[in-house]
Amino acid sequence: MDELFAPWRIEWVKRDSPADADGCPFCSIPEAADARDVLVVARSEHSYLLLNNSPYNPGHVMAIPYRHVTEYPELTDEELLDQARLVQRAIEGMRQAMNPDGFNTGCNLGRDGGGSIDHLHRHVVPRWAGDTNFMAVIDETKVIVQALEETYDVLTAALADLPDGRREDEHVYFSFV
Ligand SMILES: [Zn+2]
Repeated sequence: MDELFAPWRIEWVKRDSPADADGCPFCSIPEAADARDVLVVARSEHSYLLLNNSPYNPGHVMAIPYRHVTEYPELTDEELLDQARLVQRAIEGMRQAMNPDGFNTGCNLGRDGGGSIDHLHRHVVPRWAGDTNFMAVIDETKVIVQALEETYDVLTAALADLPDGRREDEHVYFSFV
């Protein structure tokens, strides 16, 4: 793949977020009453997993600390471990649900690094050989919305089926004990 970090150039469509125009969507999204509305697929103690509403591929998620951190070195040991385990969890869930051939995972740090939202987040993008993009050939908006809802259901179910997974009010909670 030529452009390793291209998959997450478009990070989040802010108009779909519950945040005010000037607010940070990644701070307000986990506070929403309905996880499905805002596409939160899983939560851990210090971070949450958000389905990207402008995905490079179906299943494209971001592991986001609840705390508004902009610099990677600012993350505490606990937050680092928690976020890393959430990424592991996302990969496991996607393997079960979507059978990808590979993954890209990484962060865009700072505007020159491609980041459009400064609240630190780590992308996890499932990849398939050839990455056949069916969305391009049909009505784009409609298909993306349907694909997001379908992906949300498939992924939350897979995450709930993993060891320690459980469903509760449409969130998938798990603990790292
Ligand atoms: Zn924030």
